[in-house]
Amino acid sequence: MSKTILPGSTIGILGGGQLGRMMALKAREMGYHIAVLEPKSDSPCGQVADQEVVSGYDDLDGAEKLASISDVITYEFENITHETARWLEENAYMPQGGELLRITQDRFVEKTSIQHSGLKVAPFEAVNSEEDLQEALKTIGFPSVLKTRTGGYDGKGQWVLKSSEDANTLEFPEVPCILESWVPFQKELSVIVTRSVTGETTTFPVGENIHVNNILHQTIVPARVGDAVKNKASEIGKQLANHLQLVGTLGVELFLDDSEIYVNEVAPRPHNSGHYTMEACETSQFEQHIRAICGLPLGRTELLKPVVMGNLLGQHVNPLMENISAIGSAKLHLYGKDEAKQNRKMGHINFLAPSIEEAIERMNQLKLWQ
Ligand code: AMP
Repeated sequence: MSKTILPGSTIGILGGGQLGRMMALKAREMGYHIAVLEPKSDSPCGQVADQEVVSGYDDLDGAEKLASISDVITYEFENITHETARWLEENAYMPQGGELLRITQDRFVEKTSIQHSGLKVAPFEAVNSEEDLQEALKTIGFPSVLKTRTGGYDGKGQWVLKSSEDANTLEFPEVPCILESWVPFQKELSVIVTRSVTGETTTFPVGENIHVNNILHQTIVPARVGDAVKNKASEIGKQLANHLQLVGTLGVELFLDDSEIYVNEVAPRPHNSGHYTMEACETSQFEQHIRAICGLPLGRTELLKPVVMGNLLGQHVNPLMENISAIGSAKLHLYGKDEAKQNRKMGHINFLAPSIEEAIERMNQLKLWQ
């Protein structure tokens, strides 16, 4: 049952981080009110919301409170407990549903589902013990990467195994894992796909992602790959949206290895690699997400100008503040986080230019990321 949620209504967001903040800012521009649930007040999203529900993510009373003041519920992160998701599905209007959350919370379930959609993933096996690991290594081999099934992000909960020595010296984490074959990729790409409650589907231009220390550093758009690869990546996004019966936004991370594309992982929400859309596309990923869950027509997704997005981590904030005039006309986004901890995502900058080369040059000129 899909509804049209008109401007003037209240959107409830589970999670108070930067993704919620950027959804909320866009939604407010469009005339919506925002309520947010987050364990601490004054969160990045709380700062720009009309109402804050200060509550744990797994506290059903909090979810009930959020539902009582919202016309539609969405989320900005995937680690929502099954109980909360189920309660919201049954007692509130959460058009994205809980099934995609269940799938994306567990790497084994996620990869299995991607495989069932007919797409390629790196060969993987579930491993729950050191014995399982030795057994799985017989088929997966080296190099490979051991990942915890739940809770890992930005390379946390991952161990690269280059040789049997690495495998023998590894202290096996006491949680269920998967062992995955290493993909010797030439490039990492991503595509953001949005599907509305009416079934209308769009993809944003494919991004080329560069990671440093497993954290996204830079997204370059248009990606420096041929049209055939771009088209294939968009098709993968659409195929997944169909297979998963997506409502809302899905960030799809891809590895390009020769002309083969592997799906690495998916995130059921706007994605860091889609932040470039905020100024560089006719519609941003955040506006598109709001349109999708509210049953409005989706916006056009064309790229207006080549762009490079650079992530600002904790260590980049002070140097930037000391030399703020150097950003010129680049677009600064800060998330309102107080503590600039090492490697914490604090904001991002979008560099738009007539060509990708110039956009990269403008980013380099800032000398923030050496
Ligand atoms: P993930 O948390 O799975 O997105 O992994 C973080 C990063 O580690 C990816 O963006 C890749 O740079 C790298 N990585 C993860 N899995 C693999 C793999 N199977 N082969 C090659 N690189 C990988």
